[in-house]
Amino acid sequence: MLEICALASGSNGNSYYIGNEWEALLIDAGISTKQLFLRMQSRGLDPHKIRAVFLTHEHSDHSRGIQVLSKRLSVNIWMSAKTWNSLPVYHRPPWVRFFEPGETVTIGSFGVHTFLKNHDAADPCSFRISHGEKSVGVFTDIGTPCDRVKKELGECQAVFMESNYDEKMLWEGSYPWPLKQRVASDVGHLSNLQALQLVQEHAHPGLECLFLSHLSQENNTPGKAFTAFEPLHGRMQVKLTDRHAASDLYRLE
Ligand SMILES: [Zn+2]
Ligand SMILES: [Zn+2]
Repeated sequence: MLEICALASGSNGNSYYIGNEWEALLIDAGISTKQLFLRMQSRGLDPHKIRAVFLTHEHSDHSRGIQVLSKRLSVNIWMSAKTWNSLPVYHRPPWVRFFEPGETVTIGSFGVHTFLKNHDAADPCSFRISHGEKSVGVFTDIGTPCDRVKKELGECQAVFMESNYDEKMLWEGSYPWPLKQRVASDVGHLSNLQALQLVQEHAHPGLECLFLSHLSQENNTPGKAFTAFEPLHGRMQVKLTDRHAASDLYRLE
């Protein structure tokens, strides 16, 4: 049995929980430890089950909470060496381990498959977490989908998939022009439509649950993202994530 939950998701903080009865992993910790623990509590999840935290990249919406969390739980934060070098000193955790992108790291009964993605960070990575026959993908902060994410998506029964912006809202919105271009670029974020297309073309036929993740506060609404994925609503559970609260807990049996 696997339980998964987005503890925080959005442009101002991200953290994703994947656990079984005895142990758990977090992907990113971009909110305070206090908030993380409160949100875990709200879903009946025990922080002391966390065995490791994997960091996708150095941006503060993913890394802000790792130092305190690592100290509090005496838990290793796994990242690439290049990510460590780009991490501000005040975010550097006391407990750190390194992986090479492309490597699979085993933590208890989990396999963490690490791979590079297209995003404007030093060494941005995505992760597919395997557990027995099941796999969960955490695929956010993707400028444009590469062959690696297409292949890994095809292995997953549940996915946290970036659905960052509505194209009309971005281009007609208040962001300064260079920022609009950055978001839409090949090293920025995925729009609702890009994410839908990626899932339609490359998802495993057994994909059961799709969490729409990393929604922009300025350039998207939960309603717009959810509606964009209407073509998939009959085929799988499509769920929203929240920047201010934990998402639904989903169980993969
Ligand atoms: Zn980022
Ligand atoms: Zn981000």
